[in-house]
Amino acid sequence: MYRCNKALCKTCQFVKHGQKNFTTKGKTYSFKEFYNCSTDHVIYCISCPCGLLYVGRTIRPLRARFGEHRRLIEDGKDKHSVPRHFLEYHQKSTDGLQVWVLESIHNNLSESDRFKKLCSQETYWIFTLDTLSPGGLNEELDINTIL
Ligand SMILES: [Zn+2]
Ligand SMILES: [Zn+2]
Repeated sequence: MYRCNKALCKTCQFVKHGQKNFTTKGKTYSFKEFYNCSTDHVIYCISCPCGLLYVGRTIRPLRARFGEHRRLIEDGKDKHSVPRHFLEYHQKSTDGLQVWVLESIHNNLSESDRFKKLCSQETYWIFTLDTLSPGGLNEELDINTIL
């Protein structure tokens, strides 16, 4: 996982720059490819300072989606599980927040198949990393993504 190092990128400071793997709940997972803030069609993971994880997905560059998370945290919005946790436990501070890509879905599929795979792999990672509440910051599965 790497920083994109683009000027003005507000995500670079949060990525697990230069790391080859990450460890959670006693298990270590290696990054399969080179990812950075610009990688799109990704399943990503956010960790808070207490070590709780959130798994999400986006067809946009990681930077675009992560920017939304960051702004919601700073605004103290409480509808989404991530900003609500940061409001309750971290005084809306993004200090210690980290983000990284778990997997990217390649463009060798049609856009609709690519999106389906993105959703199914998101579900896979939510269960693999055990991020459903209370073990993590995912509140519920979008029922459409289970299929
Ligand atoms: Zn960046
Ligand atoms: Zn926390």
